[in-house]
Amino acid sequence: MRVRPYHSARSTAVHVYHEDDDCPAGRAVPWFDKVEGRQDCEPCPQCVRTATTCVDHPAVEHPASAGVS
Ligand SMILES: [Zn+2]
Repeated sequence: MRVRPYHSARSTAVHVYHEDDDCPAGRAVPWFDKVEGRQDCEPCPQCVRTATTCVDHPAVEHPASAGVS
């Protein structure tokens, strides 16, 4: 499921943000290290792939993504 961007607060962690709560890499981030947002992070390749392969939600413009704060 698509969620608000989150990433690990750990400075040693990979600097990627996740947008899917089914992402294995995202699930590996402990809850106490999770921060909302995508600051200084690249998009997670696995989350991107999930988003682009979903036929119901093609990776076209997301009107909602612009207004999320
Ligand atoms: Zn991810």
